[in-house]
Amino acid sequence: MFEIVFLGTSASAPSVERGLSASLVLYRDQRFLVDCGEGTQRQLLRSGMGFRKLDKILLTHGHLDHILGLGGMVSTFSRWESIEKLSLYGGQWALERVRDLMHVVLRGGEVDMQLDLIPVRPGVIWQDSAMSVTAFPVSHRGPGCFGYLFQEATRRPFLEERAEELGVPRGPERRWLVEGQTITLPDGRQVGPDDVLGEPLQGIKVVHVGDAGRTRNLVEVCRDADALVIEATYLSREADMASRFGHLTAAQAAELAVRANVKHLFLVHISRRYSERDIRREARAIFANTTVPRDLDMFRITKGGVEKVTG
Ligand SMILES: [Zn+2]
Ligand SMILES: [Zn+2]
Repeated sequence: MFEIVFLGTSASAPSVERGLSASLVLYRDQRFLVDCGEGTQRQLLRSGMGFRKLDKILLTHGHLDHILGLGGMVSTFSRWESIEKLSLYGGQWALERVRDLMHVVLRGGEVDMQLDLIPVRPGVIWQDSAMSVTAFPVSHRGPGCFGYLFQEATRRPFLEERAEELGVPRGPERRWLVEGQTITLPDGRQVGPDDVLGEPLQGIKVVHVGDAGRTRNLVEVCRDADALVIEATYLSREADMASRFGHLTAAQAAELAVRANVKHLFLVHISRRYSERDIRREARAIFANTTVPRDLDMFRITKGGVEKVTG
């Protein structure tokens, strides 16, 4: 199960209701902050998530509405919070701007925290046995823009009935089988993983795109995703402006969801020029399972669907 908390959903400048880009993706005890617009640390506190275990930040690109919050956050972390290490992932351009920002914040001074700036290239950038994060290129303005794919590992379900039929005892033997070992029963028969494990089940797939100017290059990475988070800065009536500034319309985002067979679409980076209702209406006419989340909304994403938890 993934959870996502939308911390900031406004485009370019904050509005009364919406802060600048940031969302928190949670999986078991791992937390990934995607982008860190101005005001993100306050939003983290308001969401009830706080700073605990917040040691990985993924940047989609280097525009200020996605990174300025790092200044305040690192300042806080370096003085008051017990976070020992913070890893910042991003393209070269984003990291260069972050380096400039950190120069202002830290002024070359010593901090009690290890700050790692990790340049991202397309491919897996983080993984453990349960899930992985893969970076993929996104076309926006400027070089080195990335989206992030959160993929739960494929697993084979344990077939309880088969195990009973074969006489596999209830004990550590079952775990060994799940881990891929062959066991020997008291009567000498051998039972292997293939005897008691079902067909592989795809894990949950969540795709998070930041600002994007086109969608054709995103169809494959979004294919069959359980949830897609992507910008919808404009409405179709201003499609020419959207393409001029490297942004998407709600309709373009919804068409991507249809083409890629996405299960649920979250539209963020909402411009103050439109009402939330208009964005939702334009997208839902094309793709019904669309949500325009508000700041601090939290959702649970499983194979069974998307469910709102708080907000
Ligand atoms: Zn932006
Ligand atoms: Zn941007």
